[in-house]
Amino acid sequence: MTEIVVETRDIVRDYHIGGGLFRKDRTVHAVKGVSLKLEKGKTLAIVGESGCGKSTLARIITMIDPPTAGDLLIDGEKVDIGRQRLTPELRRKVQIVFQNPYGSLNPRQKIGDVLMDPLIINAKDVPAAERRDRAMQMLTKVGLAPEHFNRYPHMFSGGQRQRIAIARALMLNPRLLVLDEPVSALDLSVQAQVLNLLADLQDEFGLTFVFISHDLSVVRYIADEVMVMYFGEAVEYGTRDAVFSDPKHDYTKTLFAATPRADVESIRKRLAKKKKAA
Ligand code: ADP
Ligand code: MG
Repeated sequence: MTEIVVETRDIVRDYHIGGGLFRKDRTVHAVKGVSLKLEKGKTLAIVGESGCGKSTLARIITMIDPPTAGDLLIDGEKVDIGRQRLTPELRRKVQIVFQNPYGSLNPRQKIGDVLMDPLIINAKDVPAAERRDRAMQMLTKVGLAPEHFNRYPHMFSGGQRQRIAIARALMLNPRLLVLDEPVSALDLSVQAQVLNLLADLQDEFGLTFVFISHDLSVVRYIADEVMVMYFGEAVEYGTRDAVFSDPKHDYTKTLFAATPRADVESIRKRLAKKKKAA
């Protein structure tokens, strides 16, 4: 039996922006009725240019920002939109990693505390003594070391900080990880390492990913399914191979044509080589 980890039905998000003396109030239709359904262990990549609504959808799936209308289901359970946030139980299941590993870590907090925080807040049943062990283990899982436990974020590179953000997101054994441009701020070679790490973690923990990116070469590498967003709408949604080999919408055709084929291929080969070597 297939397990659907996340589903959205006709999700809408409007933002009302108050005008000023010379400007009228206006409404931004950031997401205009997006439906998706994702099985356990799969990766859905959401791609599209800046401002098309990708991050808004990511915030809706994690209920950081509830939708104006539509349904969100996690593990088949309808999320109570009116509650404005996830229940503690769902909070454990759904985690998010943002693009900027600098902004998302508190500079005054030691890495060990960064990792133990989710347990303190959302898994009070885990005894204090065990928190430390779990954090140490997670450091190793993401390619860091137990001796990093007492260090501060500024002592790490961008790639390492993103590993820390990923480790923090995994501390509660989530089912679903929403990754909003998780490698976009990193150098290409570091991007490949972090993508490989994510692929390994997905296998090990049976994770389901909603992976947001504006980079087609990355999408091609990691996605099982692809959604292309354009002005708040899903103009393309299907398996990676179907979307890449036979894009239906004019926007997608233009998007694909705009990325030089050679670039995509060379990056893909490099990633594949790295993956084999790792
Ligand atoms: P993307 O992540 O694809 O770049 P976003 O989801 O961030 O796109 O934004 C989609 C649209 O919604 C944009 O027009 C953006 O300006 C608008 N928007 C996003 N968040 C807000 C907000 N909090 N208030 C007002 N408008 C917003
Ligand atoms: Mg965004």
